[in-house]
Amino acid sequence: MNTMKKLGILTFLLCGMLATAQKSMEKDFSSIEDKVIEWRRYFHEHPELSNREFETAKKIADHLRSLGIEIETGVAHTGVVGVLKGNKPGKVVALRADIDALPVTERNDLPFKSTVTSEYLGNEVGVMHACGHDTHIAILMGVAEVLSKNKDKIKGTVKFIFQPAEEGAPPGEEGGAALMIKEGVLQNPDVDAIFGLHINSQTPVGMIRYKSWWNMAAAQRFVINVKGKQSHGSQPWSGVDPILISAKIIDGLQTIISREMNLTNEAAVITVGKITSGVRNNIIPESAEIVGTIRTLDYDMQKQLNRRMKEMVSSIAEAYRGEATTEIASGTAITYNNPNWFLKCYPLWKL
Ligand SMILES: [Zn+2]
Repeated sequence: MNTMKKLGILTFLLCGMLATAQKSMEKDFSSIEDKVIEWRRYFHEHPELSNREFETAKKIADHLRSLGIEIETGVAHTGVVGVLKGNKPGKVVALRADIDALPVTERNDLPFKSTVTSEYLGNEVGVMHACGHDTHIAILMGVAEVLSKNKDKIKGTVKFIFQPAEEGAPPGEEGGAALMIKEGVLQNPDVDAIFGLHINSQTPVGMIRYKSWWNMAAAQRFVINVKGKQSHGSQPWSGVDPILISAKIIDGLQTIISREMNLTNEAAVITVGKITSGVRNNIIPESAEIVGTIRTLDYDMQKQLNRRMKEMVSSIAEAYRGEATTEIASGTAITYNNPNWFLKCYPLWKL
């Protein structure tokens, strides 16, 4: 999707508020395209991890300030919120962009590639905007600029929400949307509707995908602790092997999805992203830790999946003479897209 079209999506999303103004703003959007590309590349080259988006927030705040938009900084640690009051009375619409990057090393030769490294969970890691949040920030900065120039045409108020820690706050810290809401981001003025977007490299250029009702899956982090019994690798019969138990558990978890979930209702996913165990080749370790994510689009399925995971993990461990516990975080809610907003907006959108 090219930048103009991405910028256009947010105009589209604001269509109820800006229906008549949309045509006259097209010129403003095309004139800002180069700037948006430049910002996106800047953020791409200077990524920051969740709850550490200090420079990113500063650049966003400077930009909003330069547009004369009223801002609040330090929301949920590093979040920035701007409020643009239109010249006519009306509803309050919030537009949200996430601003954090991921602990991923960038492997390409782009002139604006990231060479940033940082510490993450005790390891030295590369940092990269591997999820596209650099683009989201730049788009929303562009939208803020165009809308602030067209204040006289806006019926109502636009709230720009730049949200930190979308990828999840580091362990032991609060963060992200939940903390922003707790700190009152949807109040004063109270938000009537909120919109966000996410770029997607599998979506062809020029196409927008949207879905009414339930859209983005709920994400739950899980941690499984497997307890075995340490022994020498040459004498497995005298120990309990937590690595073998982990392998059986991981295998078993996937059968919950393939054999127990009604996938004709909604999709569901369990992914193990990290396994930690052992110190050397010839020792059967004492324990293992399995960490992963659960994605669901239906709360009944989520309940069933959570229950079955716990049952399966402890029964498998028991079958192999070990023990295992499962902790599942309550996680994020399923994104709900109000179908009325889309139905009203869709006919106004022209690619
Ligand atoms: Zn993302």
